[in-house]
Amino acid sequence: MAQKEEAAAAAAAAAAAAPAAPAAPASQNGEDLEDLDDPEKLKELIELPPFEIVTGERLPVNFFKFQFRNVEYSSGRNKTFLCYVVEAQGKGGQVQASRGYLEDEHAAAHAEEAFFNTILPACDPAVRYNVTWYVSSSPCAACADRIVRTLGKTKNLRLLILVGRLFMWEEPDVQAALRRLKEAGCRLRIMKPQDFEYVWQNFVEQEEGESKAFEPWEDIQENFLYYEEKLADILK
Ligand SMILES: [Zn+2]
Repeated sequence: MAQKEEAAAAAAAAAAAAPAAPAAPASQNGEDLEDLDDPEKLKELIELPPFEIVTGERLPVNFFKFQFRNVEYSSGRNKTFLCYVVEAQGKGGQVQASRGYLEDEHAAAHAEEAFFNTILPACDPAVRYNVTWYVSSSPCAACADRIVRTLGKTKNLRLLILVGRLFMWEEPDVQAALRRLKEAGCRLRIMKPQDFEYVWQNFVEQEEGESKAFEPWEDIQENFLYYEEKLADILK
């Protein structure tokens, strides 16, 4: 598929343009580090192709500018970037929050699935979880169903997903999956210009000591309205 090759070339170009790509830690909490003690696992890690799933705290500026842009046709954007905030509220009322981002290649595990596998693999039934995702594009049907299953068996988990773009929204099975998400209690929103600004401030690498002001692109509001209308039609 020429489009795929184009996409790969664009991704390679984006990667080349950002040589300071994150040497991201394998996990937020370090659980995966013990894998490094196991020679077999280590070998596996080394032999794997370049990171299928990358996690980190802040993503490079170029990644944000390219991947999160809410263009109408997402040519060349064959990855999903998922920024998350997890707030866990225990019985005593104290809230612990963690944040970071995940990145995938669509060919491998998807970022949404990776979130449940690596960031929040288990929920303590005594804790209430409020999770917010800022995702470059909306989930595919398979990921949407994974989210629905997780919400179905984890009643103490609330999930709000803000998406920059809708992914393959013309497809009936994608539309049906988005409706199942809504029915499962997942709140789904299109990112407003302020949401992009929030991601910029909280999830994008900033120059040391100075954070640059967010520069909205020309059609950011127009594209937001475009996708918001599509989403409203789908969820009607
Ligand atoms: Zn997916």
